[in-house]
Amino acid sequence: MVHVTPSTIPLLEAFERDEGCLLCYLWLKDEFQSMEFVEDNEVSMDEAFRRDVTAASGFCNRHMHVLHKVVFSGGIPDGLGYAMYADDTVEMFRESVQALQTALHGSRKKSWNVLSKDRTPGAVIEASAEKLDLTLQGTRICEICRRMLLADARRTRTLVDMLGHADFAGRFATSGRLCFPHFVTSIQMVPTRRVNKTAVAALLLETELRCLKDVSRLLAEGGNASPEMAAAIIAGVEGLYCVTKKTPNSVIALALAETERRNPRR
Ligand SMILES: [Zn+2]
Ligand SMILES: [Zn+2]
Repeated sequence: MVHVTPSTIPLLEAFERDEGCLLCYLWLKDEFQSMEFVEDNEVSMDEAFRRDVTAASGFCNRHMHVLHKVVFSGGIPDGLGYAMYADDTVEMFRESVQALQTALHGSRKKSWNVLSKDRTPGAVIEASAEKLDLTLQGTRICEICRRMLLADARRTRTLVDMLGHADFAGRFATSGRLCFPHFVTSIQMVPTRRVNKTAVAALLLETELRCLKDVSRLLAEGGNASPEMAAAIIAGVEGLYCVTKKTPNSVIALALAETERRNPRR
């Protein structure tokens, strides 16, 4: 029997709802809760948290826009946090541009013969492009992405553990559904869990094949719902794992590994 615990309850509920990939359903739910989290006064007034947001050059493209929409459509009553994050980030951008302006200005004023090679206008412009790229990318992953990726990894681990229980495995085999990205994440988690790995992997493969066949059949039938279902199974819910817009993947991997090591529950 799957034990009813704070970590299994959301997955059991999502499974009962039967609204496509259960991990995608929870991802989207978590995204909204993350907006509430960053808008919470205690969080947005926390200097250390705000420094982390600024170090990531604000939130990523998606989360800047989702937060803006949620706050200003009245989804969250107090938009104070948004204004503070925006103000911090704009200020950091301004300082960065100002420093480059000063450097360029300085390189033009001095006579050429006293300038070292790396302080000529050409060198300053070249260095500016690099510095601005760093400013844009930031040194950290978007705080909302980081929280969501960690939560997604925890949920996927729990799901794999739940699939090790015969009762849930049987139900999942009949009506469970995972988008392809979440299917891949689940398979990646199997070797790390204390479950019957062969049985769970076989179940995941069989379930995914059933989902993919369903989509093929619906696409062949040409109904109205099939294109949307195809997008959901191929790419997952809108925004899933889309964390590469401002920050390169290697930085994300490092940031996540570091967070997990330092603070596994945050
Ligand atoms: Zn999914
Ligand atoms: Zn993000």
